[in-house]
Amino acid sequence: MKRNLRVKTMILDTIKMQKGLFAAILFAVTGAIISALLPPLVLARIIDGITAGDEVSASFLLLYFLLLALTGFLEAAREGLLTVFGQKMTHALRSSLMEKFGRLTSDNVNRQEPGMLVSRFVGDVDTVENLFTSGIVSMFADACKIISILAVIWFRNRGLTFVLLVLLPFLFWFTRHVQKNMLSAQIENRRAVGRASGHVPETLHNIRTIHCLKKEAYMEEQYDIYIGRSYQAMERTNFYDAIYSPVILTLNAAVVAVVMLLSASGNKNVLMLFGMSAGTAVAVINYISQIFTPVESLGMEIQTIQSAIAGIHRINEFFALEERTENPAWQMKQVDTDRTPIPFVEFKDVTFGYDEHTVLQHLSFSVMDGEQVTLAGRTGAGKSTILRLLLGLYEPQSGAVLIHGVPAVAIADEKRRRLFGYVEQSFHMVPGTVRDQITLYDTTISDEAAQMAARLTGLDEAIRELEKGYDTICTPELFSQGQWQLLSIARAAAANPRMLLLDEITANLDAKTEAVVLDALERVANHRTVISISHRTSARLGRVIQIEAN
Ligand code: ATP
Ligand code: MG
Repeated sequence: MKRNLRVKTMILDTIKMQKGLFAAILFAVTGAIISALLPPLVLARIIDGITAGDEVSASFLLLYFLLLALTGFLEAAREGLLTVFGQKMTHALRSSLMEKFGRLTSDNVNRQEPGMLVSRFVGDVDTVENLFTSGIVSMFADACKIISILAVIWFRNRGLTFVLLVLLPFLFWFTRHVQKNMLSAQIENRRAVGRASGHVPETLHNIRTIHCLKKEAYMEEQYDIYIGRSYQAMERTNFYDAIYSPVILTLNAAVVAVVMLLSASGNKNVLMLFGMSAGTAVAVINYISQIFTPVESLGMEIQTIQSAIAGIHRINEFFALEERTENPAWQMKQVDTDRTPIPFVEFKDVTFGYDEHTVLQHLSFSVMDGEQVTLAGRTGAGKSTILRLLLGLYEPQSGAVLIHGVPAVAIADEKRRRLFGYVEQSFHMVPGTVRDQITLYDTTISDEAAQMAARLTGLDEAIRELEKGYDTICTPELFSQGQWQLLSIARAAAANPRMLLLDEITANLDAKTEAVVLDALERVANHRTVISISHRTSARLGRVIQIEAN
């Protein structure tokens, strides 16, 4: 199923699916903003009462503490719910990325660098999660908090509103400046630490060459340079870290002092703007410290949103990669067990190349049902490419690759394993037991069929001798190279395929092991169409088709 995936639509879909959760987040966000505004007002009322000589009302005190508790609860709920939402988003994104990866064309799969792919799945998805947990919603909440505090102060102390309107942009600029510098120092430090820690194993790995070429001093110098850079970057981080809090605290204190001084001024005009009761003074001090925190957070939130946008862009690029074409209209025709007159495999005037580089030009050959052929030709001539075309991993640029009259790329995925048994030069282990290596998690292959395949290759006895037999968890040292190749043949035979494609399966083996593997192959290849590639004449089967290098 082909879908046009974009991060934006996925976010909207998740919001739609998690309507209740999203509504709860909105409620917690607005509730926390409003409830945070109230305690200073209650406090102002209490203090004004005390200064007027009234008794302190217990209900006001209780209300004050209840409002503080409610604010704390709503803020905690907001954080918790946002984390849950972020996780749901991450889950949906990672699943879609994996789904997309499974649908990519072989060409696109080949082009993916493992490191880049991992950073798409891990780092970029995390930035999208952060967009919710500490980006957009927090930014919205902080902006609302600033505006609402300013609004309340406007009614309590007009002069302070003007002071804050002048001061807050400076505070924001200063915070951003410090954050940007700290971030670049942290990145530099991470890079330097990465280089320094990579330098140690690299030195160890090449220690003989280093001794031979007398490069010890050079390696030492390099290490010094790397750790020197890391120290410098750390010092920068520490400097900004050290100055930031004192500057903010001083600014906070200065604003409070100036406002208090002005409120105590004898000038009528000044008092018009800054005059206030003792209770309001306490509330105002409280608001001033409350308004500094969201301004500081805004900087980090902007940073989070910026990196999330870059992450979203990269994920969208991945989602836009070309997918394999699947044409359900083409179904593999059922072929009679009797030999059919049309060729089982047919290359019709095939021209194919990777990117600009043409590998096969006007290649035509055919293989009849049950026939065994060997492709021979110089290295790089395109023999393995022919098998990839047959497996439908690539499409020819011109001409046709037909399997019983059907284009190879049009064969449905679920039919492939029953059609082809593909054995390569080396075995690719999958995580799991010995049985899993043979079945490749295909539940339609019974235990008996898996054991039968192993028996056919002569490996059954060796497997039974293992501690847990077929249930032994596979590790690279479990079998010898020849035994891995036998397991590879068993894997191909287990699905009882119509055709075997063998690519240099004995290239890494000594003559004796090769004989064992070829012997196993002979049993498995019986009554099957076989296309094999081998440089060694000893391993050639049936008719030889010469592939000329382009
Ligand atoms: P050998 O006998 O050495 O295995 P071969 O005949 O099997 O060689 P192929 O592996 O089919 O040769 O490669 C043919 C050419 O295509 C080579 O020049 C190779 O560099 C190029 N090639 C193979 N795979 C790719 C790929 N995924 N992307 C780009 N070029 C490729
Ligand atoms: Mg090859």
